Amino acid sequence: MSELDSSVTTLKGVGEALALKLARLKIENVADLLFHLPLRYQDRTRITPIATLRSGHEAVVEGEVAAADVVRGRRRSLLVRLRDGSGILSLRFFHFSPAQQQQFRAGVRVRAFGEARAGATGLEIYHPEYRLIGANEPPVEDHLTPIYPTTEGLHQARLRALIDQAMVMLEANPETLPDGIPDALRQRFDLPPLRECLSTLHHPPPDSDADALSEGMHPATRRLAMEELLAHQLSLREVRLRIQTDGAPQLPSGRGLKTRFLAQLPFSLTAAQRRVLDEISHDLARPAPMLRLVQGDVGSGKTVVAAMSALTAIAGDCQAAIMAPTELLAEQHYRSFRDWFAPLDIEVAWLSGKLKGKARLDTKAAIADGRVRMIVGTHAIFQDDVHFQRLGLAIIDEQHRFGVHQRLALREKGEAGGLTPHQLVMTATPIPRTLAMSAYADLDVSVIDELPPGRTPVTTAVVPDERRPDVISRIRNACAEGRQAYWVCTLIEESETLTCQAAEVTRDELVEALPDLAIGLVHGRMKASDKAEVMDAFKSGELDLLVATTVIEVGVDVPNASLMIIENPERLGLSQLHQLRGRVGRGSTESFCVLLYHPPLSDTSRQRLSVMRETTDGFRIAERDLQIRGPGEVLGTRQTGLAQMKIADLERDADLLPRITPLADALLNTQPDASKLLIRRWLGEEAGRYGQV
Ligand code: ADP
Ligand code: MG
Repeated sequence: MSELDSSVTTLKGVGEALALKLARLKIENVADLLFHLPLRYQDRTRITPIATLRSGHEAVVEGEVAAADVVRGRRRSLLVRLRDGSGILSLRFFHFSPAQQQQFRAGVRVRAFGEARAGATGLEIYHPEYRLIGANEPPVEDHLTPIYPTTEGLHQARLRALIDQAMVMLEANPETLPDGIPDALRQRFDLPPLRECLSTLHHPPPDSDADALSEGMHPATRRLAMEELLAHQLSLREVRLRIQTDGAPQLPSGRGLKTRFLAQLPFSLTAAQRRVLDEISHDLARPAPMLRLVQGDVGSGKTVVAAMSALTAIAGDCQAAIMAPTELLAEQHYRSFRDWFAPLDIEVAWLSGKLKGKARLDTKAAIADGRVRMIVGTHAIFQDDVHFQRLGLAIIDEQHRFGVHQRLALREKGEAGGLTPHQLVMTATPIPRTLAMSAYADLDVSVIDELPPGRTPVTTAVVPDERRPDVISRIRNACAEGRQAYWVCTLIEESETLTCQAAEVTRDELVEALPDLAIGLVHGRMKASDKAEVMDAFKSGELDLLVATTVIEVGVDVPNASLMIIENPERLGLSQLHQLRGRVGRGSTESFCVLLYHPPLSDTSRQRLSVMRETTDGFRIAERDLQIRGPGEVLGTRQTGLAQMKIADLERDADLLPRITPLADALLNTQPDASKLLIRRWLGEEAGRYGQV
C-alpha cells in the first residue's frame, strides 16, 4: 500500500472532525484529494487595468483611493473610488466596520479581487477581497487559483492546502500513482500523462486557457474524463467476461413449437423480427449465457420476439421468465402469453409483489418444482424467495427501468441447476449508438428497425389548453365513429398522490362534458385488480375513453385506440412523450395525438413539442432529446452508473465516446492488468459490488 492509499488523517492537521467533512466530499484517502478537481478557476496572476475591465469579469485590480464615502441609496453602503491611471472603479461594501471605513484614506494603495459589474457609479465590485499595499508589494499569484467543490465548514483555503500537500507527496514519489494508460497507448490516443494533468488542473500555469479549464474542455480534464469513461466500460466488460465463463443451457432452436406458435398468430413476422430472432437463436444454442439487448421502437413488436425466444427455452426443457417494470405491463404480458401459449398446452404463471398468501405460495411451488415453464411478472420474479427449477432464459422488458445490478442478480437464479440463464433485455428507448456502447458495454445489441406493415403514422398537434372544448368535441366525434381515446394526465410536482387526484378530477369533468361516453380511469394508486379490470374494459371496447396517468406509458396495447390527448406535455421528456404516443397508431385507422399545453411555453418547450409534431422516429427523437436534456435523462436511469461520474459529463464529452471502445480494446490486448487499476481508481466500491454477484 502506498502513502497515497492511506487515510487523510495521516496528513498534517487532519483530525477526526476534518476527516468527517472530507468524507462528505467522498475524500477518504490521500489519492482522493488528488482526484478532487476544481469546479472553476480564478485568474489572480496579473493585474488588470481598470480601463480594460468588463462587466462579469473576475479580476485583480490595483489603484489608489480617490475618495471613500458612506452613501445612502436603497441600502447604506461604503463606496470606495479607486483610480489606476487607466480608469476609475468603485468598490462597494454593504457591511463594513468603522475601522474599515477609516482605512480607505485618499492616496492609499489597494489591491482588490472580485467580479466587476455595472452599478450606479459605472463598474463596481461588491465586497471584493482586498488588501492595502505598500510600494514593494510582492507579485500576484504564479498560477490560476482553483476553486474546489467543498462542504459546509470547510474553507477553500483549507481544502486547497490539503490538496497541495497531496500534490507535494505525489511529486516526491511519482511512482506511487501509476498512469493506468500505458505510454504507447497514450501516444496513440494523444492523451497527456496523468501526473501532468493533475498538476495542470490543481496548479494551472498563468498562460493556461482559464475558460477551457473552467468548462472542462482543457486537454487535462478531457484526459481524466476519458479515463473515467474507459474505467466504466472496462468494468462492464469485466462483468460480461465473468458471466460468460459460466455455463448456460445449450438450447436448440425448438423449431416444432415455434412453427405451431407462428401458425396461430394473426400476422407474419417482419424481416427485422426474423433477423433479430436468428441472432437470439444463435446465442441460445451456445453453452455460454447470452447477454443481448434488443432495441426496437415503440410498436415494433418486441413481445412476439420475447415469446418466440421463450419457446426455444421451453422446448429445450428449461423455464423462461419475463419481467416487466410495472404491474400494468406485466399483467398485459401475462394475458398475451396466456392466450398465445394456451393452444400449445404451455401453462403460464403470474407473479407480482401484489400476489399474496396461498396463491403466492402455490405459484412459487409450481416454479420451484418445474410444473410451470413460463413465468410472467414484475421484479418480484427475481426476489430471493423465488426459486426456479431450471431457468434457461430471463427476459427483461423495458430495460431502461432497470440497472446493471438487477441484471446481474439473475445470475444467481440459475445457480440451483449449476447454469446461468441466458439474458434478453428489451428496450424501446432508442439510444444513440455511442451512448449504447458505453451504457451497455456488457451486452450485444440487436435492433428491430422496422414497424409491422399497415401502420399509419400518428399525426400530432400542439394545442393550447384554451382550446380544450374543441379537443373534447373531437373525442366525442371519434368515439361516435367507434374509435377509442386516451386522456393522459401528467405528473404534478413529482407527487403521485396529487397526480392521481388530478386524474380523478379530470375524469369527473370529462364525464360531465361527455355524458354519452363510457369513461374509465386508471392510475398508480389503484389496486392491481381494479387497474386490470379497467384495462380489460378498455381493451374489449366497453369503455370509449380512458383517463390515465403515465402508468400507461410502457407497453399497453389497445389497437382500436386512435386518439390520445396528453395534458401538460411540457412536463415530460421527449422519449417519454414518444412512448406515450406509441399507445396509439397500433391499428390501421389514422391516429392522432393532441399535446394540450398550458401557455405560455418557454422556447425550449416549444422547440421540444415541435420535434414531436415533426417526427415519429424514435431514434431522431432520442437524439434531439439528448441534445436538449442530456444523457442522464435520456438513458432514463441513474442506475447505469453513467450519470454519476465524477469528472466525465456525457453531454460535454459525447465526442469522446467513439474513442472509448477502441481504447478499451487496445488496453485489454496490451496491458490487461491496467484494467483493474483503472476500475478500482474510478469505481472503487461499485466495482466491488459488481464483484459480489
Ligand atoms: P413493442 O415493441 O412496443 O413492445 P408490441 O410487442 O406491444 O410492441 O407490439 C405492438 C403490436 O404489434 C401488438 O399488437 C402486436 O401484436 C403487433 N405486432 C407485432 N408484430 C407484428 C407483425 N409482424 N405484424 C403485425 N402486427 C404485429
Ligand atoms: Mg413492449
